[in-house]
Amino acid sequence: MLFSGCLAGLKCGVDATDYGPHPLMERLCALPSVRVVRFCPEDAALGTPRGTPDLSGGDGRAVLDGRARVVMDDGRDVTAPLLTAAHQMVELARREQVCFAVLMDMSALCGTQVVSDGPRLVKERKYQRGLGVAAAALDRAGIPVVAQRDRFTLDALLEVLDPHGPRLIDDVLDHHERDWYRQEFG
Ligand code: SF4
Repeated sequence: MLFSGCLAGLKCGVDATDYGPHPLMERLCALPSVRVVRFCPEDAALGTPRGTPDLSGGDGRAVLDGRARVVMDDGRDVTAPLLTAAHQMVELARREQVCFAVLMDMSALCGTQVVSDGPRLVKERKYQRGLGVAAAALDRAGIPVVAQRDRFTLDALLEVLDPHGPRLIDDVLDHHERDWYRQEFG
């Protein structure tokens, strides 16, 4: 199983943390039936710590198609190195025969449900439905992607991988079923 690096213990966030704790991810990674593969496309392309990259003009699919860009909070266009890193993530997933990816939502690279629409470090931050660049590349390669927030899907996964372990009991919804998502996108 492929994880966004920050969900699986790598301190690869923009601020050199893992944005944690991630108790559900720790549980998934500890299962004997799960082989953990982890990668951070932003770290691979830009290093850590770093500024914040955001999508401009569309989501990750549009970036793959050359119709949108990824821009740093200082205005630098980092589309090319991040596209390379997204394809590196796909190559790693293929090499490791990954069958499923759990990724950090909202990230310009790893988002799977929601990503920023323009810069996020502004007062009136905007969101768009869609995939980040690496998530879109994985999706096009036929590798299913899910957000760490998709608790219904992750609960179903746990039922398969750990049938005798505890199930999630609170708030078992996927992100697109939540009030915030519905209010934002209708
Ligand atoms: S690019 Fe992905 S793995 Fe890296 S810090 Fe952002 S969400 Fe985590």
